[in-house]
Amino acid sequence: MLKCSLHDGNTLPPVGLGVWQASNREVESAVDCAFGHGYRLIDTASIYENEAGVGHALKNSGLPREAFYITTKLWNTDQMRVQQALEESLTKLHLDHVDLYLIHWPAPSQGYFVDAWKGLLAAKEQGLVKSVGVSNFQPEHIQRLQQETGITPVVNQIELHPLLSQPELVDWCQKENIAVQAWSPLAQGGAGVFNSKAVSTLSRGYGKTPAQIVLRWHLQRNVCVIPKSVTPERIRENIDIYDFSLSKQDMKAMDALNENRRLGPHPDTFVNV
Ligand code: NAD
Repeated sequence: MLKCSLHDGNTLPPVGLGVWQASNREVESAVDCAFGHGYRLIDTASIYENEAGVGHALKNSGLPREAFYITTKLWNTDQMRVQQALEESLTKLHLDHVDLYLIHWPAPSQGYFVDAWKGLLAAKEQGLVKSVGVSNFQPEHIQRLQQETGITPVVNQIELHPLLSQPELVDWCQKENIAVQAWSPLAQGGAGVFNSKAVSTLSRGYGKTPAQIVLRWHLQRNVCVIPKSVTPERIRENIDIYDFSLSKQDMKAMDALNENRRLGPHPDTFVNV
């Protein structure tokens, strides 16, 4: 499978399993199923309250550490206690390091995200994380990190789907050598994307499911994806996207679905749930 190169020398699997809004019990079987279908990357976060489920699945998998790739995230209210928050996550995950640790949101009104970034850099120095990145950061937030520490995040995980394709932000990140990873890549399975005319037509034409068309569109924009599912058939389907490619014209048809419509909160203002 293709891998995405990060500017710190590590790589990121382009397709991972998202586990937001899944219980610890659901996560255990979903992770097990995902490994069976060739996934390596599991995307969790302390706020999802299912790191323990991921940890159980990892422990029971019998897989060597290098066979999987774990992302977790620092919650907004933990930005002043990075070390403790990370240690709590590692304990739940039964791991001595995660592969990717992200600042979940900049929460700029708190005024802590630069300090949090310094905490992530320290954790990387200590070997507790392999790569450090951000989520939901706008260019101005990343520029502050660059100005104050000289270190650019390797990943920006942002809301991206056909209704919110954010071409300027994607271009900006890619020019800065920051890998872009899409959250809610399937627009949460709703919002009219799967039954839109463009996706239905392409689905019939390529003989692929609507979800596969959407995920393939992301990959061809050089955007990594972490679709969520706890349903075995969907988990299988969501990584089976390497045996076809969308034509330039069909990519344009997908691009035209953009409505600048967010399903989640705005990164400039979001602080807490
Ligand atoms: P998603 O776009 O991945 O959609 C998931 C939903 O789509 C599922 O619950 C299911 O209803 C449906 N679905 C999945 N596969 C399908 C298929 N093959 N066919 C038909 N329907 C299908 O939404 P998401 O869970 O919001 O995002 C994915 C992951 O991104 C999350 O689980 C989480 O790990 C991450 N995330 C991160 C942030 C952040 O702030 N960094 C925010 C939200 C989500």
